[in-house]
Amino acid sequence: MESIIKGFMDLVKQRNQHEPEFLQAVEEVAETVIPYIVDHDIYYGKNILLRMVEPERVLMFRVPWIDDTGEIVVNRGFRIEMNSAIGPYKGGLRFHPTVNLSILKFLAFEQVLKNALTTLPMGGGKGGSDFDPKEKSDGEIMRFCQSFMSELFRHIGPNTDIPAGDIGVGGREIGYLFGMYKKLRNEFTGVLTGKGMSWGGSLIRPEATGYGTVYFAQSMLETRNDSFEGKVVTISGSGNVAQYAAEKTIQLGAKVVTLSDSGGYIYDEEGINTEKLEFVMDLKNNKRGRISEYVSKYPNAKYVAGERPWGVKCDIALPCATQNEVNLDDAKKLLANGCFVISEGANMPSEPEAVHAFQDAKILYAPGKASNAGGVATSGLEMSQNSLRIVWTREEVDQRLRKIMSNIHKNCIKYGKQDNGYVDYVRGANIAGFVKVADAMLAQGVV
Ligand code: GLU
Repeated sequence: MESIIKGFMDLVKQRNQHEPEFLQAVEEVAETVIPYIVDHDIYYGKNILLRMVEPERVLMFRVPWIDDTGEIVVNRGFRIEMNSAIGPYKGGLRFHPTVNLSILKFLAFEQVLKNALTTLPMGGGKGGSDFDPKEKSDGEIMRFCQSFMSELFRHIGPNTDIPAGDIGVGGREIGYLFGMYKKLRNEFTGVLTGKGMSWGGSLIRPEATGYGTVYFAQSMLETRNDSFEGKVVTISGSGNVAQYAAEKTIQLGAKVVTLSDSGGYIYDEEGINTEKLEFVMDLKNNKRGRISEYVSKYPNAKYVAGERPWGVKCDIALPCATQNEVNLDDAKKLLANGCFVISEGANMPSEPEAVHAFQDAKILYAPGKASNAGGVATSGLEMSQNSLRIVWTREEVDQRLRKIMSNIHKNCIKYGKQDNGYVDYVRGANIAGFVKVADAMLAQGVV
C-alpha cells in the first residue's frame, strides 16, 4: 500500500514541484483514499484520483488598478475551476498577499470534497489575488474589485462558476464584484454568494461557517455524551469565521478565552462574553482595527504578540485563522493541556504532523473540509433561494444548516469508524467526499 501511495505522490510531485500546500492537501487525501480505491473494484485502475488532482481549468490574469496616489498597481488574479462532476464550480475568492497557485489549488481541491460532503449539487473551485486589502481605502478596494471582475466575468455565471468570499473578501468586496458583473453582463443573477440581504443574499450566510464549525463539534461531543456547557474554548482568528464560532460557543454556555490575528493573540481568562464580542466585531468589521486593541478596552486581558493561542489551557480548540497555523509543537501543547476536541473553521489549519498527533491521541478531531462546510453549504442555500426567487427565514436556513452539518457528521462516521470504535474523521470525510465525486465522474466518462 505504502508503495502505491508513494508512486502516486511521486507523479503528482513531479508535475507540481513548486506547490507545497497543494501537495500537502493531496497527500492527506491520497493516504486515506488510495487504500479505499484498492479495496473497491469499481474505482480501481481508472486513474480516478489522478484525474481529480488535475484542475479542469486554471485561469490566471492581470489585474491592473490605480491607487489613491495615482500610481498604477499590477496584481495577479486567479480562478481554479477544479471539478464540475456534481455541479457548477463553487468556492470562494481570497485576497491576501500570500495567494499563489499552490494555495489556490490546495483550496480548490479541498473545496471539491467539501462541497460533495454538503450533499448539495456543487462542484469545486477557488480563486483570488495576491492583492493585500490591509490599509487600502474604500475607493482602492472598489477599483481593484472592478478590475478583477472585468476579466473574471467572462468565465463565471450562475450555472457555470459561482464565487464567494474567503480571507480578505467579505460583504463589501462581494458588493463591488457583483456590481461590476451586473454592469458588464446587464443581468441580475445569483452569480456570487455572500450577497447583501437587499440584493439576493441569504440570512445566516455570514454566520454559517462559524456556526457550522460549532455544530460539528457539538455532534462530535454527543458521541461521548458530552456538550459545550462549561467548557473552555480557544479560538484563533478574529475574522468572520472566528467571530461567529465565538458567538455560537457563548450561546451554548462555554467560555471563549482567546482570539487572534496575524499580529498575535489575546487571552481573556474571564471569558469573551457577548458584549466583548460585539466590541471585537465592531473593531474588526467597521474600524478594521487590530485585535491588540482589545486589551486597551479590557485591561484584565493580555495580548501576546507574535504568538498563536495553542499554549492556553482549553477543552476545545477551534482553529479559525488560516492554513498551517497548528504545528506539531502546538498539537503537543494542546494535548498536554487536556484539549480533547478540535473542530477546524479554517481550511487545512493543522500541519500533517499535528493531524497525526491528534489521531494517535484518539481525540475528537474534525478536518476543515468536514467541519467548516457550513459556509459553502449555506452558499448553496443562497443559490437555491436565488433560483426560486424567494427568501427563507433565519430559522429555516439555520435548521437546514444544522441538518447538513449533522449529515456530514453521520457520513464521516460511516466511512471513518474503526473496529475499535474510534472515528477517524479525516478518513471519513475524505472517502465520503471522494465516493460522491468519483461516482459522478465514472458515470460521465473520460472527459
Ligand atoms: N470560502 C469558503 C470555503 O472555504 C466559502 C465558499 C463559498 O461559500 O462558496 O468554503
